Amino acid sequence: MPGWSIRARAPRGTPRAGHALAGIQRDADVLAAFLEDAAHFPGGHADGLITATSEADISQALAGSTPVLPIGAQSSLTGGATPMGEVVLNTNRLNHILDIGTDSVRVEAGVTLLDLDQALRQAGRYYPPGPTFMGAYVGGIIATNAAGAATFKYGTTRDWVIALTVVLPGGEVLDIARGAVIAHDDGYFEILLSDRTIRVPVPRYRMPQTAKLSAGYFAAPAMDLIDLFIGSEGTLGVIAEATLRVLPVRPAMCLAFVPFALRAGALAFVRQVRGLARDTWRTRDPNGIDVSAIEHMDARCLELLREDGVDRSQGVSIPPGTEMALLVTLELPAGTSGARAYEEIGNAREPEAPDGPLRRFCRLLDAAGVLDDVEVAVPGDDGRANQLLAVREAVPASVNQRVGRAKQTIDPRIEKTAADMVVPFDRLEELLTAYETAFGARGLDVAIWGHISDGNLHPNVIPRSSADVDAGKAIILELGREAIRLGGAPLAEHGVGRNSVKQRLLEQLYGREGIDDMRAVKQAIDPDWKLAPGVLFSRQS
Ligand SMILES: Cc1cc2nc3c(=O)[nH]c(=O)nc-3n(C[C@H](O)[C@H](O)[C@H](O)COP(=O)(O)OP(=O)(O)OC[C@H]3O[C@@H](n4cnc5c(N)ncnc54)[C@H](O)[C@@H]3O)c2cc1C
Repeated sequence: MPGWSIRARAPRGTPRAGHALAGIQRDADVLAAFLEDAAHFPGGHADGLITATSEADISQALAGSTPVLPIGAQSSLTGGATPMGEVVLNTNRLNHILDIGTDSVRVEAGVTLLDLDQALRQAGRYYPPGPTFMGAYVGGIIATNAAGAATFKYGTTRDWVIALTVVLPGGEVLDIARGAVIAHDDGYFEILLSDRTIRVPVPRYRMPQTAKLSAGYFAAPAMDLIDLFIGSEGTLGVIAEATLRVLPVRPAMCLAFVPFALRAGALAFVRQVRGLARDTWRTRDPNGIDVSAIEHMDARCLELLREDGVDRSQGVSIPPGTEMALLVTLELPAGTSGARAYEEIGNAREPEAPDGPLRRFCRLLDAAGVLDDVEVAVPGDDGRANQLLAVREAVPASVNQRVGRAKQTIDPRIEKTAADMVVPFDRLEELLTAYETAFGARGLDVAIWGHISDGNLHPNVIPRSSADVDAGKAIILELGREAIRLGGAPLAEHGVGRNSVKQRLLEQLYGREGIDDMRAVKQAIDPDWKLAPGVLFSRQS
């Protein structure tokens, strides 16, 4: 029987350092490597660095009076992993994969997705919902409720977390199993510490029903305590260990790069494929089209790829005049060989050819008039798959390069100006039109890409001046309201971190009262605001 209270325990292991300050690294050269995350949030500085090897080390780090910022791979795009005077708690030595079962894996927080994927691959298992960046740590993806390309089929990180071990700000430890601790009907949890009991109020706002959401604390009536820690961005506890659900069998995968002359054609195709994939999941038709992800790049993204020669270097041809390109991940029955896939593709137009998922997919492409322009990576052809993925990954990289160049050569105030919004798929066209109108009206240069199968888009400004950055931020705040009006959210997968625009978007989403409800949770669990202060929201309302 689940209850609403949970008892904390003492940390396991012996801390390497005798007391809190002894294990702190303060060498400026060592610290320098930890002062920035992938958002290049300015002004990073730290009071020291602790590299934890056990939950006892984490507990010890929290015993001091200095605030602590837990970090993973620092691939945060929000400044959430940039220290602002805290002691940095490095988790990269908590890198052990503890147990791989048939349908779950138990790992320490510092395991990278790449290492996890390799270990699972050897065991024939598969963890599908990770973000695109494979260097991210398990602790980081849980702390941000990260979501990747395959959310359409597999959901977000949250859906795959079965159990967590979390070190609380006071140094005691919770082992939380999904389903074991459910909020009291009156809207609270109780955490029994060795010397007192904490009552944690469940926030009263209602979360939007979107495919993905990384927007502060989870809240729902009868919610599970584990969900409060997932997505809490290091502000409530340090994740030391996690048990994740995995698939017992890894499907065969086929990637298709599909250029469309017209955006409307691309959107209609995505709509059709989403519907067919859902039919396949429902009917379990072995010949049905099964898609886990559809990524998209708009015309400006494709122009950037051409400018940087990425199309040539990766051997991908993008027909002139392409308005939108898609990268589709098709799942095929486990064990489908490359030869079998080529045979199905080759015979797709033959009326008498045997049925199969790839044949159906090719016929759909043919009906859309794009079959002859498609580039494919069949199962097992990792080289080609990596090229197609590299094309998609080159887009954010090329924007970031241009932002960096403009910052150096035009104005140091120039910074990455981007959004991460999600709407229900059937409202996506309206959001795209709103983007075009808003950015177009101010004459901004913008590239838009994203996880289109989830209705999740990342518009990125390519700034030519700091005025472009200011205008871009103002537009993102306007568009945040539009995404909310369309039933979506302005914070889909990257989280909120220290980014002031994202913190304002969080307030747009839940109102001041919503942020105050989050503050009440923080105050209950971390009364000294020791963990990641300033991430998600400020202490003062
Ligand atoms: C090229 C690129 C592509 C990306 N693609 C995606 C994508 O597709 N989807 C997506 O969701 N994100 C994406 N991201 C963003 C980023 O990878 C994710 O947010 C990721 O989950 C962060 O993991 P990390 O280990 O780097 O965490 P960090 O960046 O180090 O930390 C992120 C936050 O988690 C907290 N944290 C880290 N470890 C712990 C812990 N053990 N306990 C408690 N709190 C902790 C930190 O305090 C911080 O607030 C991308 C980033 C890059 C650079």
